[in-house]
Amino acid sequence: MVDAAHIETDLDPTALNLSESDILGRLKEIAGQIDADYEGKDLLLVGVLKGAVMVMADLSRSLNRHVEIDWMAVSSYAGTKSSGVVRILKDLDTDLEGRHVLIVEDIIDTGLTLSWLVKNLKSRGPASVEIATLLRKPDALEMAVDVKYVGFDIPNAFVVGYGLDFNEKYRNLRSIGTLAEHTYS
Ligand code: 5GP
Repeated sequence: MVDAAHIETDLDPTALNLSESDILGRLKEIAGQIDADYEGKDLLLVGVLKGAVMVMADLSRSLNRHVEIDWMAVSSYAGTKSSGVVRILKDLDTDLEGRHVLIVEDIIDTGLTLSWLVKNLKSRGPASVEIATLLRKPDALEMAVDVKYVGFDIPNAFVVGYGLDFNEKYRNLRSIGTLAEHTYS
């Protein structure tokens, strides 16, 4: 077996499954749009740790242009989930004044973390702030912030792999899927 192939057997084969080539193919398409949209402008990609690591690696390498990459770490929901209160654990190293910022996300569920993040980054004087996410769940469609680039709209199920974890595991899967019942029951 190569790489993390043996843990792929923890995924439910009958549920949603995005293979590595599905993911890379879609990220290439999005990268082409980003190349066109930001032509002649500088671009700073901002990733949110830890889930966005794989998306950032593959999306940034599909771009045919120079970019800068920076990272933030936030704790989602320092209160109840509905409060949308977010605490910064690691801030950006980059000054955003006059910069074109593209937030790179793995998944948007309620969108609470992201609306907070967009507001926070916009307060720092950037030229623009947009969002690219690999996955989006149905609730995010009611979100007040626009998402400029979406990889896949998926149903309301808990997914793992390609950076997304379950209790910190499964981030190193190359594909994305839902866990089979035998893995948690
Ligand atoms: P939101 O603020 O959009 O509700 O939540 C965003 C965060 O919740 C994501 O960045 C991710 O960390 C986590 N999350 C939401 N849905 C899923 C999911 O299906 N699988 C995993 N592994 N994490 C999820």
